[in-house]
Amino acid sequence: MRVTVFGIGYVGLVQAAVLAEVGHDVVCVDVDENKVENLKKGIIPIYEPGLTPLVESHYKAGRLNFTTDAAKGVEHGEVQFIAVGTPPDEDGSADLKYVLAVASTIAKHMESPKVIIDKSTVPVGTADKVKQKIADILAERSAAIEFDVVSNPEFLKEGAAVNDCMRPDRIIIGTYDERPQDLMRELYAPFNRNHDKVIFMDVRSAELTKYAANCMLATKISFMNEMANLAEILGADIEAVRRGIGSDPRIGYHFIYPGCGYGGSCFPKDVQALIRTSEQHDYQPAILQAVEAVNDRQKSKLPSLVERHFNGQLAGKTIALWGLSFKPNTDDMREAPSRVLLEALWEQGAKVQAFDPEAMEETQRIYGVREDLSLVGTKEAALKGADALIICTEWQQFRAPDFDLIKSQLSEAVIFDGRNLFEPSRMNRKGFTYYAIGRGASV
Ligand code: NAD
Repeated sequence: MRVTVFGIGYVGLVQAAVLAEVGHDVVCVDVDENKVENLKKGIIPIYEPGLTPLVESHYKAGRLNFTTDAAKGVEHGEVQFIAVGTPPDEDGSADLKYVLAVASTIAKHMESPKVIIDKSTVPVGTADKVKQKIADILAERSAAIEFDVVSNPEFLKEGAAVNDCMRPDRIIIGTYDERPQDLMRELYAPFNRNHDKVIFMDVRSAELTKYAANCMLATKISFMNEMANLAEILGADIEAVRRGIGSDPRIGYHFIYPGCGYGGSCFPKDVQALIRTSEQHDYQPAILQAVEAVNDRQKSKLPSLVERHFNGQLAGKTIALWGLSFKPNTDDMREAPSRVLLEALWEQGAKVQAFDPEAMEETQRIYGVREDLSLVGTKEAALKGADALIICTEWQQFRAPDFDLIKSQLSEAVIFDGRNLFEPSRMNRKGFTYYAIGRGASV
């Protein structure tokens, strides 16, 4: 099938590569010339496991192409994916200008029937706007061309995006009527062989499904962070509590890890957007507001533990930081808890020596060159001459470090662990002062 994907970001590029992998003929369109030129040279703009070989092989085979020429893109695909960003507006609601810009582009150039698939995460009612926009432009052009608008939200996880797209748990397809359903089944048939994962529904329900999923996941995290804070106050151990509640199949073990707050491009933005949508309809979303407030507070957890430990005397201290990305296996720094931490440490006059396996380039891009930030090549190098170690992201390589080496490098044997990687009692036996999340007092 001929497919066009507008937006070559995390979602668009992975989706395009995976569609090419199963044999579809894919053209990707982006407004970012640099990105398009780099992709043609084999330079992949994001880190995502398994993505580079897919993109390289299908580009070479001619099944995956990149262009800034929107007219060419519109001409190519019988289906047109919209996978552009929907960043938060000033008030937190989703900014639809990129989505509607693509809708206009498609409408201006289309000469044959198209199915327009909205993959971006968009508020309920956006498909109606896309449909209206296209209808208006076609009317201005006096062009009577059939089109369908479909809502097909994406559920991939950064860090496992290729696998998630190759083996989706579900394929949500919201349509206004039955007309585009056969085409959508054909498009996704290669991903739907083991059992039927396609769930058809109306457009609005599909749009809300995406927000409901992300808000539920964010709720689980904030709930566990609340329990962790209570555990700390009450002298309980959240890890024991986690295992205890996870054993109930109605709760389960998935996604109930406490930590230093959720980040990334999706949870914060989607929780906020659904809050704004609710408020626009005069509904107070009490749970979502609490989820957001708890998360904001949790992001300050590590900075306040550090500040308390050093009695507010952080000026002149050097802090080793392991992990910058908002979660492992990605270079994404959007809304990462590490950013709140870095900025708080700098504010207090501390210097940071940081290491991350993938996100250092992105950190440099965000913060530029500054005297109080050294980005170093290994986790060991980050320890050199530092006064304390903070762990912000649970990369695999941080899980079993050489504790003797850590101790020998730090001026004081103190670790602040925002991801609960180690056993407090073991750390204490090794002579560390160890701060974790919700695991009781530690000396
Ligand atoms: P991104 O910022 O990584 O990429 C968006 C791309 O769209 C950029 O390359 C940008 O240059 C391009 N673009 C903007 N305007 C354009 C236009 N008019 N024509 C062509 N290209 C244009 O975004 P992303 O993380 O891939 O997210 C895209 C959407 O998918 C968002 O709505 C997001 O909420 C949703 N989503 C993201 C994830 C994720 O994990 N990142 C997961 C599921 C859903």
